[in-house]
Amino acid sequence: MKAEIISVGTELLLGHTINTDATHVARELSALGLDLLQVHTVGDNPQRLEKALREALVRAEVVITTGGLGPTEDDLTKETVALVANAPLEEHADSMARLREYFGTRPMSANQAKQAMLPRGAVAFPNLAGTAPGCATPAGDGRWVLMLPGPPSELLPMLRDSAVPFLQRMSGAVIASFMVKTFGIGEGIAALRIAELTGGANPTAATYAGDAEMFVRVTAKAQDAAAAEALAAPMVAEVHRLLGDVVYGVNVAGLEAVVVSKLARLGKTVSTAESCTGGLLAKRITDQPGSSDVFGYGMVTYANEAKQRMLGVQEYLLRTHGAVSPEVARAMARGAREFSGADYGIGITGIAGPGGGTPQKPVGLVYIALSDEENIWVRVMRPQGRYLGREWTRRLASSHALDMLRRCLAGLPVEDQWSLDPA
Ligand code: ATP
Repeated sequence: MKAEIISVGTELLLGHTINTDATHVARELSALGLDLLQVHTVGDNPQRLEKALREALVRAEVVITTGGLGPTEDDLTKETVALVANAPLEEHADSMARLREYFGTRPMSANQAKQAMLPRGAVAFPNLAGTAPGCATPAGDGRWVLMLPGPPSELLPMLRDSAVPFLQRMSGAVIASFMVKTFGIGEGIAALRIAELTGGANPTAATYAGDAEMFVRVTAKAQDAAAAEALAAPMVAEVHRLLGDVVYGVNVAGLEAVVVSKLARLGKTVSTAESCTGGLLAKRITDQPGSSDVFGYGMVTYANEAKQRMLGVQEYLLRTHGAVSPEVARAMARGAREFSGADYGIGITGIAGPGGGTPQKPVGLVYIALSDEENIWVRVMRPQGRYLGREWTRRLASSHALDMLRRCLAGLPVEDQWSLDPA
């Protein structure tokens, strides 16, 4: 089934708003196995919208519009879709009841009430986060126009709760989707390794660059959920085999979720000593429900004095090697573990930038150490190519720390698999 997206809004053409709605919709379409042919952006202009709609409906069975559903004068998407679909606007009783409930005793203007008008024959999509409902309008020949609101806070729940189930019913198939998550491999290399799997139509495999990570989404379509899962399962296993132990999970929330649940299963604890990441690692760990069972101490030791007083880092190490050095990272990891009595200690020290670099110790250089009772492992994160910014450097350093612990808990080599920059 072919689809097109039309994003409506002059603010998009002026560059005031980034068209994130189209990205969200595009992702869902690809997960549903629909072919997205084109994405259009038009201003708040009914004539140009009408032209774009008529042309898109020649090519695609499903056209999804975003924006222009609200109560203001320039919100004309519904009127234009009604014209193109030859389905006059009629008051939709449920939507009007919702609006009345929303306004309560406050007066409702004619413009507000206009939001409850939907094209004849439309399937309404309730708006749980705003006032303007969306809908799916039949446009003849088995074609449909789906209208979604502009604000992402309204579009996202409507997309998930109404539009995706509608499209699933329309395609007459159930989709099973698996996200294979990796850390420590670049998208280009991963795509090459799984190249033999990416040409198929059902199931499909596609790579996505994540936040300093890389994901492979495997999607299969079948008559029921069990059949779709059975179709996808061998491809998920094959992706896992081809990518190896850089895979940290399938349909998991993130590295931190995997690490916290593994620590809990093993009855182990970790504590952290962070310099350049400023507590980001502790935040990512404590974002996980149940983290209090595995995490008791997270220290932000930014100054040398803090490293000495809280972690027992010896002054001569700082003087001889500098605060950003493998020696100090090791001492921080050991200090965090010994101070807290945890099973594992992590130390992170580096130069997040943008200032503070030297030719010997450039911006982006970070040492990450993991300590258990017997060993201390260190990874060095060197800037590769261009510097990608402070936030990115900090995020990647915290991901390396989590990945080291994940690998340690799984009995995998901790230091020698990471030399690829996962950008
Ligand atoms: P409302 O009921 O708020 O009027 P609407 O469906 O009429 O919703 P618009 O008026 O087109 O939506 O846009 C409202 C706001 O939503 C915009 O100012 C912008 O902040 C955001 N928005 C609109 N379109 C997009 C888009 N494609 N991507 C991201 N944000 C968008």
